[in-house]
Amino acid sequence: MKLSVPFTAFVALLLLALAAHAEKLSLVGGTVINPADGKIIENAVLVIDVDKIEGVASRREAGVPVGSKWIDCAGKFILPGYIDTHVHFFQSGDLFTRPDVVDLTKVRSYEDEIAWLKQHLPDTFERYLRSGITSVVDVGGPFWNFEVRKTANATAKAPRVAVAGPLISSVSRPQLDLGDPPIVKIDTPEQAREFVRKLAPQNPDLVKIWYIVDKDHPVDSFRPIVRATVEESHARKVRVAVHATELETARAAVEEGADVLVHSVIDKPVDDAFVKLLKEKHIILTPTLVVFERYGRTFANKLNLTPEEKAWGNPEVIASLDVTKLPPEQLPDRIKTALADPDATLDRIKQTYNVALKNLKTLEDAGVVIAAGTDAGNIGTIHGPALFREFQLMKEAGLTPMQILQCATANAAKLFGGETGGKIGAIAPGKFADLVILKSNPLDDIKHASDIDSVIKNGVVYSADSLLH
Ligand SMILES: [Zn+2]
Repeated sequence: MKLSVPFTAFVALLLLALAAHAEKLSLVGGTVINPADGKIIENAVLVIDVDKIEGVASRREAGVPVGSKWIDCAGKFILPGYIDTHVHFFQSGDLFTRPDVVDLTKVRSYEDEIAWLKQHLPDTFERYLRSGITSVVDVGGPFWNFEVRKTANATAKAPRVAVAGPLISSVSRPQLDLGDPPIVKIDTPEQAREFVRKLAPQNPDLVKIWYIVDKDHPVDSFRPIVRATVEESHARKVRVAVHATELETARAAVEEGADVLVHSVIDKPVDDAFVKLLKEKHIILTPTLVVFERYGRTFANKLNLTPEEKAWGNPEVIASLDVTKLPPEQLPDRIKTALADPDATLDRIKQTYNVALKNLKTLEDAGVVIAAGTDAGNIGTIHGPALFREFQLMKEAGLTPMQILQCATANAAKLFGGETGGKIGAIAPGKFADLVILKSNPLDDIKHASDIDSVIKNGVVYSADSLLH
């Protein structure tokens, strides 16, 4: 009897040890690619302990831990899950999602559009996972965006989500206002401060500014509002992301303290002073190349969805994008014009890319931190697989596969930010076990980035074929 207590304790310890082992999972024999430091480990053993990466080493050095479950990854390529740093969950990607751009509310009301989109959020989340995307940043939407973050972060088959609230803008978009508008017109610095104070209790991951410039809204008139927004946000340790597509707008945004630039500079080549400024201020820039072609191509009936988008995009969204199915009497002028002369639209897109792709290459070569992002949810930009069209365009700009993968993982994690941002986008001990396993080598050609065998989110393995079924 005297022995029974220590013996019981021993059995308990043994059971504990076995239980701990039982939760470990080893990925054995694959090639681990970690774009964060550019390291490649062939014939690797990557050990996952519940939801975190415990360690990674070559099989010869480490061997497979005793008692761990394991998955044979011979011939496969293991990367951190991709991160899309620019999406909008308040937009579905279909033809009716931006009535301020093309008013088709007589065909489908905006209320119906938003109801559909909210109802299909679990489907949208799963399409991200199917595309190997395990985290996304929603760069602006209504206040209900904060609920989307909460839902996604409590859902297994969903990417991790960071969000900004409504966009602070110089212009209003009443067509999108159903009582909780995604875009809020701000006229004075004091209004900007007040709005940031209203956002703060929601713990936004970013505050977003929509810096729209035209002849009625010159760059300088909105500068004080940008400055006030930045000051008020930084006082609460919240970073500010700015939509700025002209060189002087982007420069003004950074001079006023912005942390993140979204979209590319598309009006002229970036100059040395601008590049230097971005480096000095440690700005992260998301080029969102794909979105620049998709409105125009959709309206001109020249949409070029990739096989990935056709396979993994929402079929209802994709079906809606055929403008030839619209009742002729309901065609908005913008679509009529595009249909009448599609070549003019395609020329404009080409001109935009001539500038944007060159600028991306200049910034990448200079060492500016570039994060991959698509602006998914805008008309024709498909939630989930749009990222692979973004990769193609980044390749056209002259980025190497490793650079593109770095933009979509380690750099994107910096944009995601916060505690979660520190635990995603890299393969290292203590990081979340968010991984994508590929059947072919993305370093040979970035097109293999979509050759997905399986996706691991938070330590849970999903074979690619099991998703979206
Ligand atoms: Zn956007």
